[in-house]
Amino acid sequence: MEIRKVAIVGAGTMGSLIAEVIAIHGFNVKLEDISEDILKKSLERIRGGLTRSYNKGYIKENIDVIMGRIATTTNLEEAVKDADLVIEAIPEILDLKKKVFSEIENYAPKHTIFASNTSSLSITELAKATKRPDKFIGMHFFNPPKVLRLLEIVWGEETSEETAKIVEDFAKKIDRVVVHVRKDVPGFIANRIFVTMSNECAWAVEMGEGTIEEIDSAVKYRMGLPMGLFELHDVLGDGSIDISYHVLEYFREKLGETYRPAPLFEKLFKAGHYGKKTGKGFYDWREGKTNEVPLRAGAKFDLLRLIAPAVNEAAWLIEKEVATPEEIDLAMLHGLNYPRGLLRMADDIGIDKIVNKLNELYEKYREERYKVNPVLQKMIEEGKLGRKTGEGFYKYGKGNYEFIIVEKIGKIGVIRLNRPTRANALNLTFIKEIEDALEMFKENEDVKVVVITGAGRNFCAGADISMFASGRPDLVTETSRTGHRLLRKIELYPKPVIAAINGPALGGGFELTLACDLRVMSENAFLALPELGLGITPGWGGTQRLAYFVGVGKLKEIIMLRKRIDAKTALDLGLVSEVYPADEFWEKAIKFAEELTELPSIALKYLKNVIAYGVMPTLESGCLIESEASGDIALTDEVAEGIQAFMYRRKPNFK
Ligand code: NAD
Repeated sequence: MEIRKVAIVGAGTMGSLIAEVIAIHGFNVKLEDISEDILKKSLERIRGGLTRSYNKGYIKENIDVIMGRIATTTNLEEAVKDADLVIEAIPEILDLKKKVFSEIENYAPKHTIFASNTSSLSITELAKATKRPDKFIGMHFFNPPKVLRLLEIVWGEETSEETAKIVEDFAKKIDRVVVHVRKDVPGFIANRIFVTMSNECAWAVEMGEGTIEEIDSAVKYRMGLPMGLFELHDVLGDGSIDISYHVLEYFREKLGETYRPAPLFEKLFKAGHYGKKTGKGFYDWREGKTNEVPLRAGAKFDLLRLIAPAVNEAAWLIEKEVATPEEIDLAMLHGLNYPRGLLRMADDIGIDKIVNKLNELYEKYREERYKVNPVLQKMIEEGKLGRKTGEGFYKYGKGNYEFIIVEKIGKIGVIRLNRPTRANALNLTFIKEIEDALEMFKENEDVKVVVITGAGRNFCAGADISMFASGRPDLVTETSRTGHRLLRKIELYPKPVIAAINGPALGGGFELTLACDLRVMSENAFLALPELGLGITPGWGGTQRLAYFVGVGKLKEIIMLRKRIDAKTALDLGLVSEVYPADEFWEKAIKFAEELTELPSIALKYLKNVIAYGVMPTLESGCLIESEASGDIALTDEVAEGIQAFMYRRKPNFK
């Protein structure tokens, strides 16, 4: 069976947003709720969302045509009588949901699949209200679904393989990143990690390990989540402390006392401080306060104290065969907007360190949730300690990468920067993977040319700015030097390296292209060095290499005026060799690279050396000064202001 017609029951926040996504992807939807007034508001909300997406260029289709796919009704029978799939999105009340499902059962055809968007209730339990537990499933969307593409497909005890498969096929057609939750455990995957980690933050405050501001700062800037978890609770849905409190109470009932809400959650909930909507939450929002979390407030907070318990929760999910490490990380990336997978982070940190921290926490607080999960214990016994031993939750070594995709097309080695949820921003691990792939292609005699390009819409948005929150200038200098090492490696590489600039190349992304031998660019892409706007200087050769291309005058213009260089200007300035139409970009870039596969290798190697040392004799010393400069200014107030302003989408106010 293939899903063609969808009914959504409940046209509130989620029902409306899900309908919008489904209609955007060409499916007809019937939206049902208890009053015409609610349906009218829902349609207005959907139209508003579509208009915003259209204006930003995310959708191209006429809005009226998309709206034409959405029908509304207050009659449940009318809504579901010919549906292939019914998605329920009514309030999170078990008895209400069961009552509505038993009514739907009376009207829906035999083949119809029933799905609930519940965030926490048991799918097995809900399915009992129907006569088709095999065709009953959880479809847990995330808010807002246009941004968070995760769909947790939650299996009840009797959900059939076939039902899960049909729903997965449909989910892919509406651009979801699918993760199967094979047992309907409390919180499923993403919310299990999100809510327990938020509670852990509150426990850390309780135990005097850090303040709300310090912990938020560490989570937001150093760990790289879009917001601190306290801050997020205050603004998500205009305040969601009440929701998490209820979820924690539910965890406590189902998973044990150790999951009880931390006193800070309890205190706020009982006082009616749910977040922005009530004027107070973790922060005070009265009189239009903005509450920016300061950049370096969390420099000293021990992030491992939050990460280790989260990894322990993930290990529980693996142990109970709810999900695989890959699925858990996909849920973190696409449901919680993590900068990288939680278990990837664990592998970088080292499983031994995670386990030591858990033991330390258990010694100190005697909480069951800190007891090391058998999955982690086994990894220790087998010596799977993470990246450093070649295996942890993932395997490492040649060909096994987190941030890049490597392939060979004829005689061309392709390195695709693959961190699309972060516009392919580079960190130290990422850089090391590119170096590793270059080594691999160097040894491969069949590879004559290397092409570097970006996955998704961007080429590369530059370096992760998390290092500036560490309060450690040495880390900033080291990151700059590591970047220089990669770029110099490209410059002296014995084969031609081409940057295929498929989309925006900013900061370090632009600098990376400058070290390549040749550049081709999509007509939609642009280049820029926006660093000064953040209170920092370019750190990967932008202050040096670019001058060889455009001269010092133009270099200063590009850096100080922070101009976007569009494809045509880039061509005029001699920064790129070719500009191609977006829809033919990759095909033409590969053709361009093919023309370089026949060059004589010895002469080429010498040519590159002559240029690297002869034309740019001061490059290396210039880069050294650049690295020192990056570290020297890392602790200024300007950096704090610049990065904070960037994170809060406002204009910086440099004093
Ligand atoms: P909401 O209160 O915004 O919307 C619920 C809608 O259901 C309302 O419009 C209400 O009138 C309607 N409704 C109530 N009884 C009904 C009935 N008998 N028949 C038809 N419609 C009825 O709630 P929401 O935030 O959209 O949440 C809906 C579900 O989605 C919940 O199960 C929630 O846990 C889950 N969820 C919510 C979010 C979120 O961020 N809001 C995220 C993921 C999942």
